Parts: sequence; C-alpha cells; structure tokens
Amino acid sequence: MASGVSPRHRVVASLATQSSGPAQMEQSSTHGIQFIAGNLALDFVNTVGERAGDRREYLSNATEFNRWARTAGLLRGGARVRPTREYLERVRTVREELHRLFESLAFGAPVSARSIASLNARIASIAPKRQLKCENNTVAWVWNSSANDPDRVLGPVLMSAAELLESGLFRRVRQCEGDRCGWLFLDRSPAGHRRWCSMADCGNRAKARRYYRDHVASGRGTVSDASAGA
Ligand SMILES: [Zn+2]
Repeated sequence: MASGVSPRHRVVASLATQSSGPAQMEQSSTHGIQFIAGNLALDFVNTVGERAGDRREYLSNATEFNRWARTAGLLRGGARVRPTREYLERVRTVREELHRLFESLAFGAPVSARSIASLNARIASIAPKRQLKCENNTVAWVWNSSANDPDRVLGPVLMSAAELLESGLFRRVRQCEGDRCGWLFLDRSPAGHRRWCSMADCGNRAKARRYYRDHVASGRGTVSDASAGA
C-alpha cells in the first residue's frame, strides 16, 4: 500500500531561488510523482501534475505505469505488468472518472449515482480475476491472472476508491488550495483543516507569496528575508 512509502518529493526550487516575485514562484508548481493523499485511489488520481495549470501526465507509458505501481507498493520485487497502449488509455480514462467523482465530493456535491454505476462496471470487469485464498489460517486476496496482467495494479486502485466511498471517509476528501495544483487528498488531521497537498510544495509557495505580498511588494522588506524566515 501507499502508506509507509517515502514520498519522492521533487521540490524544484527553494524559496531562496524564488526571489523575483510571485510570477517566478508559481513556475515551481510542477510536482513529481508523490504519495501525499493518504489513500491509494487519490494518489492514483494525482498522477497528473498541475491539473489547474500546464497539466503534466505521469502515466504516459508502461514504464511510468510500472514505476508508479512499484512505488505505490502494488508490484514487488522485479514484478512488472504489461499494459498495452489501449489499456493505458483506459487507465487514464478511469483516472479521470475518479477525479471527477472525488473532486465533486471535495466540494460538497452529493455522490453521483452515474459515477457509482461506472465504478461498479469497472470493478465487475476485474472481479473474476481475484479470489480469496486460505493458507495457514489466514485469508488473503490472490490473483488468478497472469503475473504481468495490469489489472493487478488497476484492481486495487478501484477497490481503494470503493472502500473510500463505502466507509464514508470520502467526506474528508479535499483539494489542495495551491495555485494550479488540483491534487486531492484525504484530510486525516484531527481538526480537518488540512489545506495543502504538501507543506514542502504548495504550502511553502503560498507562504512565500503571502510574505512577498505583505512585506516585499509593500516595500517593507526583501524576499531574501522570506527565505530566512520560512
Ligand atoms: Zn498542492
């Protein structure tokens, strides 16, 4: 699962190098692949960077799909799946379906029956490939498809989305407030006030913009002060 996997942050520029004002600060809003959502399905949805900006695709090909799956903990050892080009198109379609669903929920919309019907159909197509297996008095899901079947990656993502809905936790799905970001996450903070995908990325940029607006643009300081104080 995604939990326990170290996020691979790609903080493009430090605050110290963002010293020319808000325009330059916003150029650094491209994320690498990260696992910040606290939920597998939402991390999958976040395989597009800058949704509200230039939009960076992180599942362009089989290599990227495998890399994401390995980092998510869905493929272990040297395991590798072989998605065709058509399959990858379906993966991205599923991702956009989930994005539409969870983004609408993040903004308080009711659960869409149409989205649930679509998710049910996706799950049904994969369900015959999974079965419960009992061994040494433990029960686990196992796959009865080939080792390189890409459904081994998409299946757990779909189940994660279903569990997020069925558990009611979807009420804590939020969207990052960062300009251009658009990433979704599960707000597990006790107060329910999480605002950013990551303080290291959008949180810090917002902080720097705020400092620039309050201290630099008004002529009361320099941006290098912001770097020191961040
Ligand atoms: Zn963000």
